[in-house]
Parts: sequence; structure tokens; C-alpha cells
Amino acid sequence: MKKILVLEDEQSIRSFVVINLKRSGYEPIEAATGAEALQKMKENPDIKVALLDIMLPDIDGFEVCRQIRATNSKMGIIMLTARTQEMDKVTGLMTGADDYVTKPFSPAELTARVDALIRRVGDGEEEAPKDELVQGPFHLNTHSRTLEKNGEKVKLTQVEYSIMKLFMDNPGRALSREDILNSVWGRDYFGELKIVDVNIRRLRIKIEDDPTNPSYINTVWGYGYKWGI
Ligand code: CA
Repeated sequence: MKKILVLEDEQSIRSFVVINLKRSGYEPIEAATGAEALQKMKENPDIKVALLDIMLPDIDGFEVCRQIRATNSKMGIIMLTARTQEMDKVTGLMTGADDYVTKPFSPAELTARVDALIRRVGDGEEEAPKDELVQGPFHLNTHSRTLEKNGEKVKLTQVEYSIMKLFMDNPGRALSREDILNSVWGRDYFGELKIVDVNIRRLRIKIEDDPTNPSYINTVWGYGYKWGI
């Protein structure tokens, strides 16, 4: 069974999440504090996805996210945010998360997000061997799902990798936000288009020479993005 870390200090919410994950065939690993979550991650290196609450009694969920990402770029991470939290701040701080879910959420919404991310994270076995896309300074290896720029490895999350692959498969083509969302997150994804922009902003920081004046991931105003070399 696929293990999902559930970091949430409010016991009622945690139980609600745990019950619904179990119902969907996952094995939830519970944590009530940031420190406990990091300990459980060490004990369970096969955790596929982490659900991280933000407001916690010790370190906040963003810090937990940063600490996970320092050693693990493959795990899927979903932030559990409160509606009262200002979304611009939350998305700006989402330095390593793949997605966010706003509380209160329905069981169907949560499991749909987890299912979609599990598909992206994969089971470690997929795609044909030795496949490389080379464009300008970029080498994308679709077997190892890694990216190099000028021979230097760029650390990507699975979602960022999928966006890069989509761009490099479609050079010069304007892709709408919906195209990107459907291709990367799946057609059954419940979330908002904004998640596309959040991930693009982060990807630009990683791959552009000057992220404030991007030359590879170009904005197509009112529509989406276009990959240009
Ligand atoms: Ca909390």
C-alpha cells in the first residue's frame, strides 16, 4: 500500500483525512508536530506523498516542506491551507510543494489530489529507457526524469519535470493554462488554474538565466505559456 504522511495538529481534521485515505486504499502515517513528521519520514523512506498543515505547534509546514525537499525532490507534497490564510502569501512560500488544498475540503477533493500526485510521482518504473531531449542548454532525460542545464543538474520536483517535458515536447507552441493543467495534473484534477502559475514561477527561478526576464518560458498574455529556445 502506498504510504501518505498526514501532518496535522488538529486531531479531528487528522482523523478525517486518515479515514478517507484508508478508504481509498492508502496507508496513512500520522504526525501531529513538524518534528514528529520529520522523524516519521526518516522511519518510512517509502512515503509517496506528504500532506502538510501549515500552522503547527512547533515548526511550520513550510519549514517541514523545505527540510523534506533538502534531501528528497521526488516525494509529492500537498500543503493543507486554511481559507483565512492569504493565498498570495501561501503560494509565494510554496517553495517546494506540488499542490495545495484549502480547508475545509471534501474527501473526494482530497483523494483526487492525492491520486493525481501519486500518478505524477509514479512507482519508480516507467517510460522507455535512454531517452533524451536536447534543446539549447537543456538536456532532459526521460528515463531518469532529470534535467541538466549546461551540464549541471537542475533539481526538479516531479511536477516541474512534467511541465518541462511538456514544454520540450512542444517547442514554440503556445500552451494554455488548461492544456498544462490537463496534461500535468490530469483531467480529473479538482484544483485551480493558479497552481500552474505557481509551478511556472518556481520553474523559472530554477532554469532561467534571469527569472524576472524569462527567455525560455515565455508568457502568452491572457492565455498561457510558450517554450522558446
Ligand atoms: Ca494546524
